[in-house]
Amino acid sequence: MLRQVLLAASRSDGVRKAVETAPFSRGAVRRFIAGETVDDALEVTQRLIGDGLSVTLDHLGEDTTDAGQAKAVVENYLALLERISAAGLGTRAEASVKLSAVGQALDEDLAVENARRICAAAKAAGTTVTLDMEDHTTVDSTLRILGELRRDYPSTGAVIQSYLRRAEQYCADLAYQGSRVRLCKGAYAAPEDVAFSSKEEVDKSYVRCMRVLMAGQGHPMLATHDPRLIEIAGALAVLHDRAPGDFEYQMLYGIRPAEQRRLVGLGAQVRVYVPYGGQWYGYAMRRMAERPANLAFVLRSFATR
Ligand code: FAD
Repeated sequence: MLRQVLLAASRSDGVRKAVETAPFSRGAVRRFIAGETVDDALEVTQRLIGDGLSVTLDHLGEDTTDAGQAKAVVENYLALLERISAAGLGTRAEASVKLSAVGQALDEDLAVENARRICAAAKAAGTTVTLDMEDHTTVDSTLRILGELRRDYPSTGAVIQSYLRRAEQYCADLAYQGSRVRLCKGAYAAPEDVAFSSKEEVDKSYVRCMRVLMAGQGHPMLATHDPRLIEIAGALAVLHDRAPGDFEYQMLYGIRPAEQRRLVGLGAQVRVYVPYGGQWYGYAMRRMAERPANLAFVLRSFATR
């Protein structure tokens, strides 16, 4: 119930304006977001890399409504990737891109063209891009765009959400040599005919998908904080003889940081998803919807100021 309310609020302009302008909001979300600027993002990236982690950087922003706004998002990624290149961080830091932020809802061709510019800059910086998966209505278009981009940039990463009823099939289609696939549970509201709604079904689907990806030829990127799924991932890696470099764990910045470092200590590859930028509202609300403790954390930080 609370999850539904928060997910609805994440799409509401009125609530967004109220929260974004509320005093202390920015400070309260700082646990989950690196900051507003490229400098902030780089500082956090360098710290995480220093701790043995890898990073994927997300410039916050979604649902772009005009081509100028989409272009500004692209420019921001280009500036970020130039800095990654200059700092020599390309082997450990990649970019995560939401196609909705680069014009997907306006025109698919525009989104392809914009995403292509970001992929080219990533390649020049010695790194790559992963296309985040968003609302269920965008899945077909996102997979089409992924196919286009992979022709020239084969390391472009895909994301599959296990809450989708078709997730296992998507994973089977994508489990080929060189294919980087992030598996997550899914963070958006979706109807019952498209997505599983119970946690148990979503988790079971995650395990089925993980089996397909770990048995396949690609590079699985297992994005979850769930201790049971992390344990099963480790067992599947042993079963399929996967070395630490042949798959990776992924977690969000600010969530289970001790577990991220524990896995690194065991020799695993762990990548932290680091969001930055001014448009943090939708991202922060989805984190609240996932876990009431995150909401309690933010409310506590309001109360203690
Ligand atoms: P949950 O069911 O939320 O949590 C399972 C268990 O994990 C909990 O019971 C608890 O034991 C532990 N846990 C979770 N949070 C915490 C916490 N704060 N502190 C301590 N323990 C905790 N979603 C998309 O829809 N599209 C994307 O492109 C996408 N990309 C992602 C990239 C990364 C790297 C990650 C990690 C997530 C991404 N997500 C994405 C979000 C994802 O879909 C889930 O909404 C989110 O990860 C929560 O699911 P979970 O697997 O952690 O499991």
